[in-house]
Amino acid sequence: MEHGTTLLLDLPGVSVLRVVAEAGGGRVVHLATQDEMAAACPSCGVFSTSVKQRRTTAPRDLPYGLSGLRLVWHKRRMRCREVLCSRGSFTESIEQIPARARVTGRCRDQMARSVGDDNHSVSEVAALHGVSWPTAHRAVVGYGLVFCSSGRAGPTLAIKPGGIGDVTTSHIAWQTERGSPFVPSPLLYRDQLYTINDMASVVTSFDARSGKVLWQGRLGVARREGFSASPVAVDGKIFFTNDDGETFVLRDAATFELLHVNRIGERTIASPALVEGRWYIRTDQHLFAIGR
Ligand SMILES: [Zn+2]
Repeated sequence: MEHGTTLLLDLPGVSVLRVVAEAGGGRVVHLATQDEMAAACPSCGVFSTSVKQRRTTAPRDLPYGLSGLRLVWHKRRMRCREVLCSRGSFTESIEQIPARARVTGRCRDQMARSVGDDNHSVSEVAALHGVSWPTAHRAVVGYGLVFCSSGRAGPTLAIKPGGIGDVTTSHIAWQTERGSPFVPSPLLYRDQLYTINDMASVVTSFDARSGKVLWQGRLGVARREGFSASPVAVDGKIFFTNDDGETFVLRDAATFELLHVNRIGERTIASPALVEGRWYIRTDQHLFAIGR
């Protein structure tokens, strides 16, 4: 197939082998791997030339034309020949189509934007892209990013998945300087990533996609190691519980808005568990179930 077809599809990492018309009017685009990084073992990073098996996958891509395109990627399963590596074999993956992905990266991004920016429902987006609701939902949650906090002296990172080897310079979407929480997990809710700094009781809200700080606020008194429980979100509200058993209820909003503080009166370091409308809170003395 001539180079122009690969250019027309414009999906980095693959080239077009051939295009076949389907009986119903659609077209099947057969793809070969073009990215040489695809043959690097995800465990040890060593390149392999030993093909174990060939197989095909059919990732969904952006809607195109009236009858759409169906992608078929002819990829290889490689043996890892590195003696020190425990991985026997691996399947080729590229940034746009990571291992086990059902949709291309660009399709996933577009679904996330349709919901996050244009207010379409997950069901609408799933129907438009011809994917299941859970697949569309996974694309929306986290905007295709993985968030992690590296502790008090370290940054909070938003990482683009799909990289192989050292992704420090290639796959960081955004990162903070320092001041990450040590024990509590960050919380992603709707468009915002919330972190509680457990050295100064300061909550920070980030725009999850850009990493821009939207607002900060203090929860109670500034304390070292004052928060252990991870925050939870329900119904447009975010709940942060400190070690004294005080739960600060904030609105998931564009500004810092403390709605109220609940006090359970016992030392609490466990995260609350929310099950079918009930809150389970474990303190150092009791297990409370709160609900109707
Ligand atoms: Zn290996």
